[in-house]
Amino acid sequence: MRKVVLVTGGSRGIGAATCILAAQKGWDVAVNYTSNAKAADDVVQQVKAAGGRAMAVQADVAHEDQVLAMFQKVRAELGPLQGLVNNAGVVDVSARLDEMSMARWRRMFDINVLGSMLCAREAILQMSTKHGGQGGSIVNLSSAAARLGSPGQYLDYAAAKGAIDSFTLGLAKEIAGEGIRVNAIRPGLIDTEIHASGGLPNRVKDLEHLVPAKRGGSAMEVAQAIVWLLSDEASYTTMSLIDVSGGR
Ligand code: NAP
Repeated sequence: MRKVVLVTGGSRGIGAATCILAAQKGWDVAVNYTSNAKAADDVVQQVKAAGGRAMAVQADVAHEDQVLAMFQKVRAELGPLQGLVNNAGVVDVSARLDEMSMARWRRMFDINVLGSMLCAREAILQMSTKHGGQGGSIVNLSSAAARLGSPGQYLDYAAAKGAIDSFTLGLAKEIAGEGIRVNAIRPGLIDTEIHASGGLPNRVKDLEHLVPAKRGGSAMEVAQAIVWLLSDEASYTTMSLIDVSGGR
């Protein structure tokens, strides 16, 4: 029987690759997005072509009312979740700490940290055996930035991803006895549009000489690790922070 996964920010980049690969591996997929409905619909069509049921669902993960409505809609249309990928995330333009505003930091932590915690809370209510669920798997998107710190570029983003690492470790232990595994992936330099959104469209090419593997990674290379963590093949893997970063 196919299982149901919700991928936040599933409309583009790593999230889109995850939706498509998950469908190929037997998942039905809820594709969350905020603004680009066309991109989400394209992913829905690709999930359906791979044999999965799919829906696009709009919600800004930083807004509790929208997240609650999203979880209700997905449950009503696809059934209870067995998987959550907390993938929605943003960067901002390169700056030093002494140039950053509180508004920037609030957005960074609201989307990247609180959005992930909020979605995890709602997923636990559906998946935990304590709440009558069948168990499941939560995969959080951290970043190599959590280790590197991203000085002079976006250390607010790095700090937010550091929080995701701590959140992953604690939540994994908190609910390990309730049938839910919790892990994080820490991608390195991955070729997606996130870099352009931070004003550095050539960031992967510019920095790939710093990667021991001497190249950036693809969204699908990250999706492979995410979908493995979702699967029963990872049945004894929880509380892991997995680097997918070409050695960086
Ligand atoms: P991306 O190409 O910029 O795509 C971001 C996705 O997130 C889009 O689907 C976007 O939807 C959605 N999104 C943005 N803000 C949202 C919000 N508030 N609520 C719901 N959805 C939202 O990003 P990516 O490179 O694939 O990154 C995915 C994740 O991997 C992020 O958590 C990122 O921090 C992490 N990561 C990426 C890299 C990298 O090099 N690419 C490295 C390390 C970690 P709309 O288009 O509708 O706005």
